[in-house]
Amino acid sequence: MEEIVSLCKRRGFVFQSSEIYGGFASCYDYGPLGVELKRNVKDAWWRSMVQERDDIVGIETSILMHPKVWEASGHVATFTDPLVDCKTCKGRFRADHLDTTPCLQKPSKLAGQAEPCQLTEARQFNLMFKTHVGPVGEDESNIAYLRPETAQGMFVNFANVLTTSRKKLPFGIAQMGTSFRNEITPGNFVFRTREFEQMEMEFFCHPDEAAAWHQKWIDARYQWYLDLGVRRENLSLRPHEADELSHYARDPRGTGTVDIEYAYPFMDKPGELEGIANRVDHDLKQHAAHSGQKLTYFDPQTNEHVVPFVIEPAAGLGRATLTFLIDALREEEVKPGDTRTVLKLHPRLAPIKVAVLPLLKKRDDIVNVCQQLTRDLKKKTAATYDDTASIGKLYRRQDEIGTPFCITVDVETVENDQAVTVRDRDTMQQQRVSLDQVKNYVLDTLEVG
Ligand code: ATP
Repeated sequence: MEEIVSLCKRRGFVFQSSEIYGGFASCYDYGPLGVELKRNVKDAWWRSMVQERDDIVGIETSILMHPKVWEASGHVATFTDPLVDCKTCKGRFRADHLDTTPCLQKPSKLAGQAEPCQLTEARQFNLMFKTHVGPVGEDESNIAYLRPETAQGMFVNFANVLTTSRKKLPFGIAQMGTSFRNEITPGNFVFRTREFEQMEMEFFCHPDEAAAWHQKWIDARYQWYLDLGVRRENLSLRPHEADELSHYARDPRGTGTVDIEYAYPFMDKPGELEGIANRVDHDLKQHAAHSGQKLTYFDPQTNEHVVPFVIEPAAGLGRATLTFLIDALREEEVKPGDTRTVLKLHPRLAPIKVAVLPLLKKRDDIVNVCQQLTRDLKKKTAATYDDTASIGKLYRRQDEIGTPFCITVDVETVENDQAVTVRDRDTMQQQRVSLDQVKNYVLDTLEVG
């Protein structure tokens, strides 16, 4: 994990928030490369969940919502984690994570296990951030919550989307956006933070078909990570145990929740990357009851009004981005005694797709060719020009940030063959490609990759 954290800082993927003031716990900023990587993860998700499908539409809803939303959804009453305090060190821990949480004073022991530890009984702590709306005093009448999940924005817009998009069951509504949870123990870099982005999709289907759709979505989401290059041996599926199911997933008519887990190097067992839940008809029924609105689907074939069941694949953007980084990071021996750090990100995710490098930065003719080519490439893809080190160092720098291709322009290019050298990040093989073909060559290869 230290390796990833240090790479992220050194190369501008992720910085500690408010670092010049000593940092602000559990908050992070994405730097120039991080923001591109994150955007690529979002694009890949949106493409596969919305744009490539006929049965799913996207929306974007506000973070602040009517407080009744959170009463209806059950979050005010039950969105809690069990909290224990240590009377000795004043530490606060999640009671259900004690088997993995080190004691603050004696990190070689688990919390509660060192001799002076004195843990209190667990009490339920609500994870929602509360705030007050408007320039009036802070009282119960103007309470609002920062949303702890994006899902409720989809449920309260169910009828709006149904009437405007004229979708037939089964269909889905997807969105991504920021959520907030006042986590008791945030940590492990961007794995668990108090402010994070989610990518969620609510798939509404006939209750009789929900079990089959649940399985289909588990398979599809698992495959998404594989398609984006995550190594199969690091992924696994785990159905939730009865005692960890969310309130909506406990319904006996449902099929619970299955997590896609990843073998994170900082955990001693695989941890949740994404959850796929069968939320049954809990949310629509609750909102119908609390709002007095009809939230049903009229099936013209059976002439019946049904309350659809909902299958929800819910992923975290920061957690997925971290997972792609961890999985892609390799130390490779190039030749005896010479190693390189390479980020084998899937080309779709790589923040920069191609770097154009001059072999001699003092030759104007070489630099001119590089700059013209970079300008051309930039119109189609994320390209960069770099001449701030020797070619060997430039290659290593691009390897470390996951750039799939480097193009080198040399004396031969301008004086002889009008061709350039294309170097592949993974194989390190170099190929001579004519200057007028190289743009298409790179774009075509990225497309297949
Ligand atoms: P966990 O068990 O890790 O607390 P959860 O089961 O509460 O997660 P969900 O409510 O299913 O999480 O949220 C969907 C996804 O959102 C998670 O799989 C994870 O990727 C992401 N996520 C949830 N909480 C956080 C957080 N505090 N920081 C970063 N990502 C989060």
